[in-house]
Amino acid sequence: MRATTALLPLVLACTPARPPAAPSAAPAASAPPSRLAPLLASVDAARLRRDVDTLSAFGTRHTLSDGSHATRGIGAARRWILAEMQHAGEGTALRAELEVHTQSADGKRVPHDVELDDVVAVLPGAMPEAAARRYVVVGHYDSRTADVMDAAGDAPGANDDASGTAVVLELARVMARQRFDATLVFLATAGEEQGLYGAALHARAAKDAGLDVRAVLNDDIVGDPTDLAGAPHPGEIRVFSEGLPAAADGAAIAEIRKLAAESDSPSRELARFVADVAAEEHTAVQPHLVFRADRFLRGGDHLAFAALGVPAVRFTTPFEHYDRQHTPADVPAHVDASYLADVARLQAAVLARLANAPAPPEGARLVTAELANDTLVRWSACKEPDVAGYEVVWRDTTSPTWQRVADVGRALEARIPLSKDDRFFGVRAYDRDGNRSPVAFAKAAAQ
Ligand SMILES: [Zn+2]
Repeated sequence: MRATTALLPLVLACTPARPPAAPSAAPAASAPPSRLAPLLASVDAARLRRDVDTLSAFGTRHTLSDGSHATRGIGAARRWILAEMQHAGEGTALRAELEVHTQSADGKRVPHDVELDDVVAVLPGAMPEAAARRYVVVGHYDSRTADVMDAAGDAPGANDDASGTAVVLELARVMARQRFDATLVFLATAGEEQGLYGAALHARAAKDAGLDVRAVLNDDIVGDPTDLAGAPHPGEIRVFSEGLPAAADGAAIAEIRKLAAESDSPSRELARFVADVAAEEHTAVQPHLVFRADRFLRGGDHLAFAALGVPAVRFTTPFEHYDRQHTPADVPAHVDASYLADVARLQAAVLARLANAPAPPEGARLVTAELANDTLVRWSACKEPDVAGYEVVWRDTTSPTWQRVADVGRALEARIPLSKDDRFFGVRAYDRDGNRSPVAFAKAAAQ
């Protein structure tokens, strides 16, 4: 306990009062100038424009459409996406391939067994201690029209979801020119409109292979920032995240109830991380966090990952144009390439931070062995060699985002002179360059 007691003045000195809504990012005065500026500047709106136009010009990308036609249908679309991914990888470590699956008939939106192919490109991590961690950005390249079984009618799907597919392609292009500590995965899925099948098959295969997928950013309808009156809102994107994890079993639900951790799922911490990065990098598009898994009567590929316990969030525009969704009117004219580029920049920043930061500390916990009016937080050391220290964060139980932060250096425990009864606590790690991990929510333990 001596080390902890000695830490106390430091903890107090490092906990400036902040307005309740402030993100948990470090004070700007100590933050280095952004290292990400060149990466973000390399995102190209003109390429995004061309990608959305090209994808929409395949007429339909319906999962059950003709896979062999040269210029129309899902086969032509996936061959083009694969070629673009492979082109992005030339001269880099990025490797793209077709992930071939068979989706069996489901008696609903898949009437017969169908070949269902995802396009996936992997940029391996450059740090041995971090390379096993994977961060995925996904968009679905299939489309649909009003009748979900209509495989032939025009379904340009410009916003839904050529826009998200274009973001995935552009991120592959610009991020492949650098190396990151952890592994990045750029994924274009099929079968989303038929039941999230491409994402589910990819997620299941990754889980069966023992791959360590730490976060998924789903881009689905991300190109049109206009409201229903046509006025643009280019500074905003919604970010949906689940509270109670879909994958939580009975024991996990019981623990969540005990901790009152209904709003601290890994997906929720990922959403808060997105908000922190956006605030710190001053990105043109800022996330509007929605504490809900998805919209009513709608779903998306992030849910297929969350169902298997993988932290996942959905990015989507601030307004819903239901009159155009799933109709021939979902055309490129309603995609704002400049906005789409800003959406891609936000996610480039998030992915770069995730991949370069240490992993969230394991074993973050409050020591609740005895009644006490202060809070002892403990965690395990991260294994990345560039870890420079840890921060304890906390917030009122009624606050949606982390409010206070204490830099505790390389210590593996900290005693905060505040009651654990009235607050939530978490721990994150940072590296020598100031990259912070997402927060590991502190559970409760006897020691
Ligand atoms: Zn969609």
